[in-house]
This record gives sequence, C-alpha cells and structure tokens, in this order.
Amino acid sequence: MASRDLIQNLEETIENIADFPVPGIQFKDITPIFLQPKLYEDVIADLVEFSRGKVDAVCGIESRGYLFGIAIAVALEVPFILIRKKGKLPPPFISEKYDLEYGSAEIEMREGQLKSGQRVLIHDDLLATGGTTEAAAKLVEKQGGVAAQFSFLIALKDLHGVDKLRQFDAEVYKILEY
Ligand code: AMP
Repeated sequence: MASRDLIQNLEETIENIADFPVPGIQFKDITPIFLQPKLYEDVIADLVEFSRGKVDAVCGIESRGYLFGIAIAVALEVPFILIRKKGKLPPPFISEKYDLEYGSAEIEMREGQLKSGQRVLIHDDLLATGGTTEAAAKLVEKQGGVAAQFSFLIALKDLHGVDKLRQFDAEVYKILEY
C-alpha cells in the first residue's frame, strides 16, 4: 500500500482547480504527475502491487483511466481493455447507460475482448459519484467477467462513490482521499 512519501508527493503534485468545469466543482488535475517520471513510476508500482496475482485483465475508463491502466496491465502481463464513451468504438460492442447529475451518459466496450470468467481490475484516475465505475462493472458482468477489483488515484469521500461499488463484492483501493 502507498507509502507516506508517495501520498505526500501526490498531494503536493495534484492541482486543485476550483469551479472547473462548472461552478462548485473542485477539479483535481493529475497532469503534473506526468512531468515527474519517477513519481509516475511509483504510482504504477503501488497500483500494480494492489492487483498482482489477483486479476486476469484490466479495464480502463476513458480517458484518464488509460494513462495508468495500460501501464498496470503491462506490468501484470494481462490484457488491457478500453471502456470508451459512446460512439467511439466500431461494432461489435456492448453499452451501458447511467445517470449523471443532469441527464445520462453511456459507455461501451468491444464485444469478445473480455473472456467469460475472467477476473477484472477496473481502473480510473478518480472516483466521484461512482456512476461511471458502476456502469463499467456492469459492462464487465454483461460479458461474463467478474468485477474483482477497483483502483483509483483519488476518491472524493463526500460523494460516497464507494457505496455504489459495494454490490460487486470487490476490493477497492484508492491512493488518496479528499
Ligand atoms: P463519477 O462517475 O461521478 O464517479 O465520475 C468519475 C469520472 O469523472 C472520472 O473519470 C473522473 O476523471 C471525472 N471526474 C469527476 N469529478 C472530478 C473532479 N472533481 N476532478 C477531476 N475529475 C473528475
């Protein structure tokens, strides 16, 4: 699990931008992590340690979930599967709709990339309300996979995203909580 040093480095590196993209949101900008290769390496090592020996595939959520998810999958030597926003993937694909604060959204996964019975890590950079991650786990289950683990760099405590993930009986890991 994350060392004090890693947590402190991340806290100092991730920028908080108030009122972006809309008033009232505290946007967590993770892009400064990529200016520090050693810090990026340490984040990946920590996320890999959480999942080592426990999953057969990694699903990353568009788009910041790809930045870490693919490196985790390569280190674990397991397949990486992209979960994309509606309209980006060629057929055949499966879809899952979910509610946003206003309106709804849809995510998609190529059919056939996940094998039935595979245990999956679902990864994203940040857990907010949990709606996106819950929909991603449903996509995994629709394909016969098992949502076995969730990992995030950041979880926003007050939004209780973890509650939405309880139904999956999976391990949840977040490096930082705000
Ligand atoms: P949710 O479905 O509410 O858990 O939202 C999660 C998705 O929205 C993730 O892919 C995040 O990258 C993005 N997101 C939500 N809130 C924030 C925030 N405060 N700062 C940065 N990204 C966010």
